[in-house]
Amino acid sequence: MSDVETRRRTAEQIRTLLETEGESVQKNTSHFNRQQYEVTENFDQYEEARTRARAIKEDAIEHLPELIEQVEDAVTANGGSVYIAEDAADAREHVADLVGDATVVKSKSMTTEEIELNERLSQNGADVWETDLGEFVLQVADETPSHIVGPSLHKSRDEIAQLFNTRFDPEEPLQTAEELTDFAREYLGERICEADIGITGANFIAADSGTLALVTNEGNARKSAVTPDTHVAVAGVEKLVPSVGDLEPFFELISKAATGQDIPQYLTLLTPPVGTPTLDFETNDTLESSNDRAFHLVLIDNGRLSMRDDPELKETLYCIRCGACSNSCANFQHVGGHAFGGETYSGGIATGWEAGVEGLDTAAEFNDLCTGCSRCVNNCPVKIDIPWINTAVRDRINQAGDDQFDWLVEGLTPDEEGSIDARKRLFGNFEMLAKIGSATAPVSNWLMNARPTKALLERTLGVDRRRSLPSFERETLRDWFDARGGSDIADPRREAVLYPDVYTNYVHTDRGKAAVRTLESLGVVVHIPAVSESGRAPLSQGLISTARARATSVADTLDSHLDQGRDVVVIEPSDFAMFQRDYERLLPAKEHERLREQSYEMLEYVYGLLANGADKDVLSRGEHIAYHSHCQQRTLGLETYTEAVFEDLGYEVVTSDVECCGMAGSFGYKQEYYDLSVDIGDDLRSEFTDVDGPIVASGTSCLEQLESLMSPRVQHPIEIIAPDNY
Ligand code: SF4
Repeated sequence: MSDVETRRRTAEQIRTLLETEGESVQKNTSHFNRQQYEVTENFDQYEEARTRARAIKEDAIEHLPELIEQVEDAVTANGGSVYIAEDAADAREHVADLVGDATVVKSKSMTTEEIELNERLSQNGADVWETDLGEFVLQVADETPSHIVGPSLHKSRDEIAQLFNTRFDPEEPLQTAEELTDFAREYLGERICEADIGITGANFIAADSGTLALVTNEGNARKSAVTPDTHVAVAGVEKLVPSVGDLEPFFELISKAATGQDIPQYLTLLTPPVGTPTLDFETNDTLESSNDRAFHLVLIDNGRLSMRDDPELKETLYCIRCGACSNSCANFQHVGGHAFGGETYSGGIATGWEAGVEGLDTAAEFNDLCTGCSRCVNNCPVKIDIPWINTAVRDRINQAGDDQFDWLVEGLTPDEEGSIDARKRLFGNFEMLAKIGSATAPVSNWLMNARPTKALLERTLGVDRRRSLPSFERETLRDWFDARGGSDIADPRREAVLYPDVYTNYVHTDRGKAAVRTLESLGVVVHIPAVSESGRAPLSQGLISTARARATSVADTLDSHLDQGRDVVVIEPSDFAMFQRDYERLLPAKEHERLREQSYEMLEYVYGLLANGADKDVLSRGEHIAYHSHCQQRTLGLETYTEAVFEDLGYEVVTSDVECCGMAGSFGYKQEYYDLSVDIGDDLRSEFTDVDGPIVASGTSCLEQLESLMSPRVQHPIEIIAPDNY
């Protein structure tokens, strides 16, 4: 299939999901997400618990081979059996041998989805019933999960009612959520009583005792595990922790992260085979001996031990499958896991899982839906850097790309990246494009937005023709700054480097000029050096070695300024996030640390200057303002500085609440994602429709999205507060 056809097919699939599943997915995921924010805000030890949970997982994965040996000994000593399955087929066959044609009840387990267990068991004539309500709905509907935690949250109550009424033909049609739940509980209760074997997953397994921890909202896992006399637990090897004592931070975190509940509804700790006798439901009063119980633990490798040796994918194994990364993801909130997922796993962390257990091809199908906005980062209870895993996998996918449109981007190609998609090269080398565009403006602006050019760009590189392309300034910010003779003020209080990001230098020069005027009026001498693009553009396309080269160049250029004690002030939040977060992966630790400590986001810096005695009366005032903070700025907890400065200057601020504007850099320009980008942007637009006052956005992509959806002029906050008569 050609690139054009692939893009069309993806766009069509996304449009269909927006229309069919989007509403339910958004309602459910954003509800979980809001609850998660609330509950973690009220949990004083949130950061401490995350740090402990992370440390335990790091240690457990480090010692995984020993833990596997330990759990084998423990379970065997308890009277159970352990099987280590190399891959999915091995695990499937082993469980199929254990089960034969028995009647089976299962509790929710993504690992059994991963090995496609149900299909295999059915081939043997086994009668298999899912007992988790969401999984049961999917089993009846013959569909695949769309979310790690809420497999059927893409379905509305009405759809489920229709499904149950058609399939089970109850005496009275089922309608309300309560009626549906009661029906399923009763129906599945009967299946559990009849079952020969119960199959569960395991949220955690204590290696020293063989104790399983099962967390559910419905209590179905414990019923499935102990009602039949045979229990088979199927879990990935990464679920092992040293002992029950290590589970405490996970119990504190898992439900908060997953659904925003304070504590799990049902938390079961059992060390099978359990000692309690089983009940014979046929005779109703006969208790059999507990000696008749059997327990089989099937631990699955299926790529996990190789992931452990992979420096980029290793972190994926720390994942506790809570789904918080999906819930906080703007793209996932709108299309769900049927677009943003692979064969089993969905959402932000799915790229890591799918790359590890299925391979790069599966991961590549949805990897681009991660825009790197980083909103999931603070939500992950084990502090996994999910955007980085996605970037690293994207980098690997790039190496397998083709070069059919190389001629279009000749000269923009970084030598060291190998054979990669031409569009990625184009977006990844935006600095070069901006240089050419600025040097040839206004002709370049006219040409880029002319209909034939847009049609060509759409056809060849998949740049959606409905998007306006950036308009370059002939006089760059640095040219303007040099022409005015730099910066020279009386009695300066500080010296700062204003980082001229590509957009500020070539496109939105007004915000750069406003920044210079503001800083000078607050007593700061400004420097604007000739410095490279931060590496953000190539990094977002998965071009890691190019991003690393840019980061090194930026660090080298800023070195002498840092030596002289100058602060680095950054206007574009995504570039600031590079300095703060991403450079940790791209620069030597000492260099990153120095730059991180000495750099400030623009309004954070203004806030600091005012707090340290600078005169706020030189700044402009107003009454109302609608403010959209950039996603990476929010992840770094910086939007409060902008709000505080505005409030200090007398503004009443309405801040947007949505996770993302829907542009996230180059994402909204891509033809296949245009509709999704607009759908997400619409949520942002609706928050500002009734606001009386100017709209401001910290990030360039947010600004462009708001301008295209609402048609007002959108400015950076610094343009609003800059002194009038300077
Ligand atoms: S990556 Fe983190 S947030 Fe996402 S499912 Fe795993 S543990 Fe939860």
